[in-house]
Amino acid sequence: MNYDLLFEPVKIGPVTAPNRFFAAPHATGHGFSLPSGAIALRETKADGGWGTVAVQITEISNDTDMANHPIERIWDEVYFRPHAEQAERIKAKGALAAIELAHGGMRARNFATGMPVIGPSDLPILKPEIPIQAKGMDKSDIKAFRESHKKAAKMAKRAGYDIIYVYAAHDISILSHFLSRRTNHRSDEYGGSLENRVRLLREVLEDTLEVAAGERAVALRFAVHEVGAKLAMTHDGEGREVVEMLAELPDLWDVNISGWSADSNTARFAEEGYQLEFTEFVKTITSKPVVGVGRFTSPDKMVSVIKSGKLDLIGGARPSIADPYLPNKIRENRIEDIRECIGCNVCVSMDAYGVPLRCTQNPTIAEEWRRGWHPEIIGRAKEEQSSLIVGAGPAGLDCALTLARAGHQVTVAEATENVGGRALRESKLPGLHSYRRVTEYREYQLQQMGNVDIYTSSLLTPDDLPEFGADNVVVATGATWRGDGVGSSNFEPLLWPKGARVLTPEDLMNGADAVGPVVVYDDEHNYMASVLVELLHKSGHPVTYVTPEQAVAQWTSYTLEQRKIIARMKEMSVRIHVNSGLVGFDGAQVKVQNSLSLGGPDIIPCETLVFVGARLPENKLFFEAQKLLGVDRVEICGDAMAPGTIQAATFSGHRIARSILDQGAELFRLEEAST
Ligand code: ADP
Ligand code: SF4
Repeated sequence: MNYDLLFEPVKIGPVTAPNRFFAAPHATGHGFSLPSGAIALRETKADGGWGTVAVQITEISNDTDMANHPIERIWDEVYFRPHAEQAERIKAKGALAAIELAHGGMRARNFATGMPVIGPSDLPILKPEIPIQAKGMDKSDIKAFRESHKKAAKMAKRAGYDIIYVYAAHDISILSHFLSRRTNHRSDEYGGSLENRVRLLREVLEDTLEVAAGERAVALRFAVHEVGAKLAMTHDGEGREVVEMLAELPDLWDVNISGWSADSNTARFAEEGYQLEFTEFVKTITSKPVVGVGRFTSPDKMVSVIKSGKLDLIGGARPSIADPYLPNKIRENRIEDIRECIGCNVCVSMDAYGVPLRCTQNPTIAEEWRRGWHPEIIGRAKEEQSSLIVGAGPAGLDCALTLARAGHQVTVAEATENVGGRALRESKLPGLHSYRRVTEYREYQLQQMGNVDIYTSSLLTPDDLPEFGADNVVVATGATWRGDGVGSSNFEPLLWPKGARVLTPEDLMNGADAVGPVVVYDDEHNYMASVLVELLHKSGHPVTYVTPEQAVAQWTSYTLEQRKIIARMKEMSVRIHVNSGLVGFDGAQVKVQNSLSLGGPDIIPCETLVFVGARLPENKLFFEAQKLLGVDRVEICGDAMAPGTIQAATFSGHRIARSILDQGAELFRLEEAST
């Protein structure tokens, strides 16, 4: 396939993008207080061939304070210098630099500034759990907001950004709040008819174009379709009408769907290109270039999207996190080298915690500056060494690849017939097919190298280790699910009567079948229990889901999947018990105690209890190996060290390799050191 089309320049108003790869604005977990890390992250994408690199939401004034989320700021002169450096460094790599100016309106909290939250109408803010109301803006507030936006646009222009965004996407923008019938209850010229609700957006676009003065491009990021919202904008209703009204005003349309959970849909719930059905109409209305996202990682798909006239630029947030060098790899026809995003949203989950993002596929993301890690280049090892990696799951594979790239002679021994460990096993579960990519990328890379030997069906015992004579042994033997009642909310094993059918996720992945009515007890709180519910439902079992937490699959609220998981369970008629701790199982029924109930335990008929709780690290080999070979030669990583997510495993394998190589594994540069 010829990918030249993707490398054509695209004119965006007065500026020209060198190619069609557009690193879309996304949360990086850095924000204004961590500029060095944020700049290095974006500069790396520009170096990797993204023709345009956009900065995430940037607050324009002190009445849009979204702390604790790590957001950028351009409130005032004090924030200017890092922006100027950022624009310069992105542009020095040949890319256009874009900045997404934003006012959060009813999504701000202003805890840090004490300013009133503002919005179109006197309504509670769009964070139902926070007991704050927004002040309905009067005309002077509207004037002040427009002035703030203009001031921020001027500063962005002076900082050197090529593209200045007006942001009306998701429900995180005051302009969206004015557009929406749900949040705009005004009766003046800014409320009521769509023409009136669009007024402020039109004014801000005109203000920004005036500041840009034909020297910078102005982009409009607009969510053409809101999924599941009341009085929603839809791509065939008001969303379309807004595009028709403003068609030729911005220099660039950046279109998506809203809210964030729809925009950043995971692979479990949406295929690559999932937004196109909502966004493709935009190009039929405007002559201006259009960019859109949809977790595009396949160059063939990208070409077909451009050829069929659905988009002009391929937007990528997560694909650019998982592989900052994706465009260069396509240009060099190294398609097999692309590290494809698996659509797991671990990156998204970090935003909730206000920390620099992590990625399952790319352990170096957000470590470009503070640890000095490059996603593609591993420094040469100081000495020629040999390394034996025991276990070829995500941790072992990333460790092996990192050491091999540094020049080590690497041997990988894997007990089972295939490499991949849990990533491969889990990829066979409903909705997790993309997890194969964790294995496939690393396996292919290792196979290309002359200094790597991979032995499958090779269960190693401690006695086997000395004969390898390896300078370093890394134990990456994973972990095993416990079936004894120990989980996040209970650290004491429970006793099951003899013959009671209790299965772990491992048992089910290894082909064990349930009998009779099944209870899936989730005391882990990530995706696994809900995925097993789907598996069991597919094989015809009536399933009840029980968790001691307050909500289904609690952690998945951070990966933006929780509501979709609940909806899917409802579709499957799965009974759900939350706040319900497991008291016992006698082989015919489980007893659960609801923590909010004043009564005794609930009884649920159950012949098979699927227990999803804690895991036991497989670390015996590590301790034996240390005794045999000495503590200095033996390391442990991944789930074998401490069971966690697949992201934690790839990171751990990578970090241990870097520590063997003495390449910044422990070193943390403090952000303050840069200022
Ligand atoms: P992680 O997520 O930490 O990479 P996994 O459980 O995915 O852990 O992978 C661990 C891998 O180690 C599995 O593929 C397992 O078969 C393999 N393994 C476990 N013990 C041994 C051993 N003694 N010798 C070789 N391979 C092993
Ligand atoms: Fe993709 Fe997951 Fe990485 Fe996010 S964390 S970029 S969803 S692979």
